[in-house]
Amino acid sequence: SHSKREMKAFLPYKAEMDADAGRTLSLVNDLRIAIESDQLQLFYQPKLDINAGVVRDLEALIRWRHPEQGMIPPDAFIGIAEQTGQIDALTRWVIREAARQYNAWVEEELLLSIAVNISAENLKNQNFTAELEEIWQEFSLPMDALTLEITESAVVSDPVSAIGMLCDIQDQGIKLSIDDYGTGYSSLAQLKQLPVNELKIDRSFVDKVYSDPDDQIIVRSTIRMAHDMGLSVVAEGIEDAETLEWLGEQGCDKAQGYFISRPAPAAEIGQWLKEKDKAISANA
Ligand code: C2E
Ligand code: MG
Ligand code: MG
Ligand code: MG
Repeated sequence: SHSKREMKAFLPYKAEMDADAGRTLSLVNDLRIAIESDQLQLFYQPKLDINAGVVRDLEALIRWRHPEQGMIPPDAFIGIAEQTGQIDALTRWVIREAARQYNAWVEEELLLSIAVNISAENLKNQNFTAELEEIWQEFSLPMDALTLEITESAVVSDPVSAIGMLCDIQDQGIKLSIDDYGTGYSSLAQLKQLPVNELKIDRSFVDKVYSDPDDQIIVRSTIRMAHDMGLSVVAEGIEDAETLEWLGEQGCDKAQGYFISRPAPAAEIGQWLKEKDKAISANA
């Protein structure tokens, strides 16, 4: 397979590698095991519906419970999974685990939808849509309960093929969300061609928005543009009440961030969702 070829290229240089590269190599080997055993775990972070003051949607975020290195965040291994041909297997694991957990929450009537992050590499797999539909339907779940979050860069490298794939995905009823919006190089013209449902404003524009007039202009006009295009808007990285309140005033639809809830394991988030009287508002 592709990944085995990569490994052969890596191994002879082992002796010369510095500590960082050594760590990376060991992660390459360990990741294969991690995907097949139970070392991967999904954390979940609520997407608050600002107007209604309720959470009906979650985003799944992967973690790796490494036996020696402890909890490894996704930024430290998603790139490795992409480069070593393991991202398809990893994404299948994520979709299946999200489906299983979502199914349990649906039975308790706790949720409407769940979002998972996918990689640009996933869009190069011609069977991606079919695979994901098959996994989702093992649990007889409606396709429109699934949202895929992709970054702008996933589309920029090969727009024609990516857009074709995204259209297929949307034809299945799956929702699409543009993650980290504003950090990539996509143009408005490209965004207009994308069959997306949701736009997530990157946290770098949100974290100082309450005090920074430039960020206010950017966020306000992005919300307006997205709404004019018929997209729902999520702001990432809300860490205080003032920011949440300000976003609500601008008509932003949903909010995510430590102020609302940190990403947490399923058991903890399930409990959190059940506390119906929990006041999540700027006035709390
Ligand atoms: P993302 O999808 O943009 O996720 C948001 C990241 O911001 C998460 O980091 C989350 O923990 C963090 N975050 C949320 N609220 C706040 C806040 O208020 N303040 C701050 N400072 N940070 C906040 P995490 O979980 O480490 O994930 C990092 C990235 O890794 C994700 O960014 C996503 O691009 C990628 N990722 C996560 N899970 C998966 C996965 O299953 N598959 C793929 N392909 N990528 C994933
Ligand atoms: Mg995301
Ligand atoms: Mg994001
Ligand atoms: Mg991000």
